[in-house]
Amino acid sequence: MTVFSLGGTIASTNDPGGDAAGVTPRLGARELVDAVPQLQEVAELETVAFRQTASGDLTLRDLVALAAEITKRFDAGVAGVVVTQGTDTIEETSFALDLLVRGPRPVVVTGAMRNPTLAGPDGPANLLAAVQVAASPQASGLGTLVVFNDEIHAARFVRKTHTFSPATFRSLTAGPLGWMVEGRPRIAFRTPELHGTPTGVGEEVPAVALLKSALGDDSRLVEQVEALGYAGLVVEAFGGGHVPAHVVPALGRLAGRLPVVLASRTGGGEVLRETYGFPGSERDLLSCGLISAGFLDGLKARILLSLLLATGADLAGVRNAFEQVNMSVSSPPSPE
Ligand code: ASP
Repeated sequence: MTVFSLGGTIASTNDPGGDAAGVTPRLGARELVDAVPQLQEVAELETVAFRQTASGDLTLRDLVALAAEITKRFDAGVAGVVVTQGTDTIEETSFALDLLVRGPRPVVVTGAMRNPTLAGPDGPANLLAAVQVAASPQASGLGTLVVFNDEIHAARFVRKTHTFSPATFRSLTAGPLGWMVEGRPRIAFRTPELHGTPTGVGEEVPAVALLKSALGDDSRLVEQVEALGYAGLVVEAFGGGHVPAHVVPALGRLAGRLPVVLASRTGGGEVLRETYGFPGSERDLLSCGLISAGFLDGLKARILLSLLLATGADLAGVRNAFEQVNMSVSSPPSPE
């Protein structure tokens, strides 16, 4: 098994000689693994210090490069991979890996909320649980997982919901897939394989804007999106997929030129399709050419749209991929 470290709180300590205040990422995968002797009983671990940064400084280019390294390891016969990183962007990075890494072998992402200088750091327990999950045959075929605070989440559903609680990761719509008990993963629910995932993602990932609707919004930002050079837009709309009525014309015009994806700012449920008929409703926006994010929240929809655009997908290709990803969560059971 291979452990890739990318930095984050799990790897953050004080500068022993310096007087800089605050912890920063300093530890690599080897040091993180050596700090948890129980790991030796679970699997033989190769370690790769892949990046050493706060997770807000990671980019989709880093993730494309990481996915290529993971794929190389899987092609060489590695049974599973664990990625340690900052929690701030795990909900995005893990979904990018879910979309980019093929095959049934487990990729498990984890991190920590309490850094190693604090009482009760959660990094060692999270790392041990992540390796235990990645080593388990039960984790095969579940896509990328986030293992944190003894819970096992699917990357496609999980969100960071708290600024400092170790119980920050939640899957609001679907719930966690399972949990850890006495060092063993218990998988209660299985996710179907994702369809419509991008293939042939290039090194250059076009910029996609993410705008959250707010009370009393106007359309000034929407009108600037194309001129600022964005290749697409994700709108985190109110509730089931609604915006103020006077923003619709600008969104409709943009949707004729670039992919504009409609997500919900609520963080749970799905974008509606056929309930409301008022100007600015989901029916109105979808009829103007916006593409439904379905169950994907705005952050995850932005990752999918960015990676699709990095394959050169056109509007029809983007629409089709969003539909397929959404249909994959309700795939019929495979025949006996
Ligand atoms: N607070 C963050 C963490 O939990 C810092 C980061 O995301 O790099 O790791």
